[in-house]
Amino acid sequence: MPELPEVQTVVSELNRKLRNRTIKSVEVNAPKMVAVGPGVVSNIREYGQQSVARFISLLKGRKVLSVKRRAKLLIFDLSGKLSLLAHLKMTGQFIFEDGRLRKKTKGLYRLVNSLNAIPEKLPSKHTHVIFTFQDGSHLYFNDVRKFGYLKLVRGDELNQVKELREYGPEPLSKNFTPTQFLAAVKKRVGGKIKQVLMDPKVVAGIGNIYSDEILFRAKIRPARKVSSLSEKDLKTIYAQIPIVLKQAIKAKGSSVGDFIRTDGSWGTMGKHHFVYGRSGLPCKVCGTAIQTVKIGGRTGSFCPKCQD
Ligand SMILES: [Zn+2]
Repeated sequence: MPELPEVQTVVSELNRKLRNRTIKSVEVNAPKMVAVGPGVVSNIREYGQQSVARFISLLKGRKVLSVKRRAKLLIFDLSGKLSLLAHLKMTGQFIFEDGRLRKKTKGLYRLVNSLNAIPEKLPSKHTHVIFTFQDGSHLYFNDVRKFGYLKLVRGDELNQVKELREYGPEPLSKNFTPTQFLAAVKKRVGGKIKQVLMDPKVVAGIGNIYSDEILFRAKIRPARKVSSLSEKDLKTIYAQIPIVLKQAIKAKGSSVGDFIRTDGSWGTMGKHHFVYGRSGLPCKVCGTAIQTVKIGGRTGSFCPKCQD
């Protein structure tokens, strides 16, 4: 599942590529994945085809002004004071294809991160929404599991969007202070530290991969209860959060699972993982085999020697 660094990679690339492009047409093949209005997508899904027709007609002729991010939500600001919100959820992907990329890739993309994956032409059977711009370039929204969504809202409706209201602080912003972080964590004193780091109300955008990597670097085991951690431990974790996320953004994210960049290439952060996805392999620091532990419904990976 894409986390903050992966979503930031997509946002930075789309902001560069889509800015000032005008939408000529939109094709929706999965009505339940698009919505109009600030409500939760599942409520709007009732409208079905009617909602799709509105979604398409509202988007036609709009210019993309910018693409930005809040937590794991992408926000496309469009002309006419409209915003298109997009969530990749588990397996959502955006591929932007213009003539230059098509020439380079011959229109073929490996849509899952495996050398065994057969390159596919777009749109594939997993392409659910296609944006065509006036210059003939395309933005494809693919999603194997179909949990992702696109939601079109007016600028004045943005403060009514539930997801946006509920997100905790951005870990790379000035608002994310040690005092604020410690207070939020201490409210979950009975929780396990990995789960607390993955709680979007404590800090936005951290999931399974980066909670493991942050805790390895902080030398603290993922299953440790918050109540067992000292203030110094929590400050060490706090300090590692931006370091790990910035390194991952620089590497264009971790291509585990279905994450790919907007040109179909992969992020390289996976090579720098110390623990995530390395169960049974030797720790890069001490050589001990990396172990896993079940925490809630998730798996935490850690080094039993480097982490206490
Ligand atoms: Zn180790």
